[in-house]
Amino acid sequence: MMSKQGILTVVSGFSGAGKGTLMKALLNRYDYGLSISATTRVPRVGEEDGLEYFFLTRERFESMIEQGELIEWAEYVGNYYGTPKKYVEEQLAAGKDVILEIEVQGAFHIREQFPDALLLFITPPNAIELRNRLVHRGTESMDKIEKRLNRASEEAVFMKQYDYIVVNDDLDECVEHLNEIIKSEHSRTLRN
Ligand code: 5GP
Repeated sequence: MMSKQGILTVVSGFSGAGKGTLMKALLNRYDYGLSISATTRVPRVGEEDGLEYFFLTRERFESMIEQGELIEWAEYVGNYYGTPKKYVEEQLAAGKDVILEIEVQGAFHIREQFPDALLLFITPPNAIELRNRLVHRGTESMDKIEKRLNRASEEAVFMKQYDYIVVNDDLDECVEHLNEIIKSEHSRTLRN
């Protein structure tokens, strides 16, 4: 049965698993709506407000929480991150498939609110590779890298509750794999 509503896909993965690059490549090739999150973290070099994130003060972020403008939000390594409600609801209603690139707490909040959401977890081939990717990215201090790696080992516990675990070894293959998984969701029964 074909679904009229778009499919909501959550993509999580360890910091440094290559999610950002992967999402860009997926969106270049296929027609998905990628939700832009709000965050209180400082922009990295090259990041622009309204492209990678909406970069907000803590006050502004807290007022969005109070006004009910976020579907979910979480604190991650000292900063707030959240998904604006409006874009996601509009796109899904228009039949467009939407992707949220968020961490595990957010993913489980989404599953509570959208039981049909598809939860995908991206992982690099091994942990040493993960550390290397973070160090070579060069955007974080060693102290912050350690915090992100500690968080990654906490997140690994939740990995098995995702619908699929996708290994990001080869970028092209991984993009194709993600697209196939999401497209297959449209063929599932028990959807309206
Ligand atoms: P980064 O600082 O590396 O851009 O993101 C840190 C973490 O926050 C990543 O795991 C990313 O997936 C997650 N994240 C980004 N946006 C959101 C959001 O809107 N909600 C939640 N819960 N997590 C998010």
